[in-house]
Amino acid sequence: MREPGGPERRGMAGRSQDRSLREELTCAICCDLFREPVMLDCMHHFCKACIQGYWDSCTRVPSCPQCRREFPGRSFRTHYLLSGLVEKVRRCSSPEHRHKMQKHLEDALQARQKEMETFLQRKHAVQEDICALTKVSGELNLKIQAEFAHLHQILEEEERAVLAELGEKEEQSLARLHGDVFRLEEGMSVLQRDIERIEQTLSKMEEASLLEVESLDIRPLVRVETQPAFNLQHYRDSHSGPLQYIFWRRMLRSICPAPAPLTFDPESAHPNLVFSRDLTAVTERNRAQPVPSSPRRFLQCVNVLGAQTFDSGRHYWEVWVGRKTKWDLGVAAESVDRAAKVKLCPENGYWTLRLRNRTEYWATATPWVRLTPRRPPWKIGVLLDCQEGTVTFFDAGDMSHLFTFHQVSAERYCPFFSTCFSDGRVNVEPMRLCHLAL
Ligand SMILES: [Zn+2]
Ligand SMILES: [Zn+2]
Repeated sequence: MREPGGPERRGMAGRSQDRSLREELTCAICCDLFREPVMLDCMHHFCKACIQGYWDSCTRVPSCPQCRREFPGRSFRTHYLLSGLVEKVRRCSSPEHRHKMQKHLEDALQARQKEMETFLQRKHAVQEDICALTKVSGELNLKIQAEFAHLHQILEEEERAVLAELGEKEEQSLARLHGDVFRLEEGMSVLQRDIERIEQTLSKMEEASLLEVESLDIRPLVRVETQPAFNLQHYRDSHSGPLQYIFWRRMLRSICPAPAPLTFDPESAHPNLVFSRDLTAVTERNRAQPVPSSPRRFLQCVNVLGAQTFDSGRHYWEVWVGRKTKWDLGVAAESVDRAAKVKLCPENGYWTLRLRNRTEYWATATPWVRLTPRRPPWKIGVLLDCQEGTVTFFDAGDMSHLFTFHQVSAERYCPFFSTCFSDGRVNVEPMRLCHLAL
């Protein structure tokens, strides 16, 4: 997998460069790195001791062992820059330095291998996400198609029914009108015969005696029963109704689950809560009302439950919160502790949404989840699915999804509401149960 010019090649190049540098810094006499290098006039370098030894051993005039140039005397120049460089190379090739370098490289390698492992794991996680996303998208695709197929089926059935009704009406009306034509034609042929007979008699008036004419049997005029005139305008009007309105209502009736027409259960309500006569609106008063004591009553928080409870199926309801500045609502297990002041969370049997400080929307999961709706919802839709174990919240204005609780579980579920304190008049607007008229 390594590309040309990868680490291996670079390593080799580095080593050969290193070697040639060593060679450059090697004394031709002792074949070791220079010690106290000196330069002769011919520009060749040797260790100071080596060149002196060489010259000592020679009886002739001093010369360069490399190029054989002869010199008038034993002269050389000390090369400080070169000796510094040689010292450096010597240090670098020391076992300690090599060991240090090796350790450093091994650490770097290990760190990269470890990082590679992490990247690989992250890549797998992302790939798993991709698979899961594709799978879920496919499932959602099928579900949406099925729902639309159902709607199309309803519309097609409606279309067929309306066209069949129109056809039937047309047939009836045509039969009636054709009947009219037939009867009129019958009358016309009777009239025609009468006309011919009368004309015949008239033409014979000259010859015939008046007596004959007198006795001529003239039938009374033929009568055709006329039906009330056909009202085309009415026919047109009665079949060009506002189809969208008609089918809109029928489509609404096909909605599943049908909206639950909830009412509040005053017996469960905190004594500070007051209700509209029809038990669909509730607000908080800062003084307790005289109420009968009940084990079902919330005593600590200004809570109330719905009078309707559920243990199976799917249920949908809508709650008007309007411009209230603070509220909680959702679903509670019927078994929740009403006498104690408890935190609203799934562990305590509450699956709720809440508004705080006018603009902060939270799902009271553990931990809380901050929601950022596209606009402040005035009406919250709650969908409880007892089979799936989910509670889902929507902005009922445009049915945009707000939050879904999963793994919701209880023996029996109650719609749950808390008006929160009215804070004088700030949050006094009632919470309302919307009854969707279909
Ligand atoms: Zn030497
Ligand atoms: Zn030389």
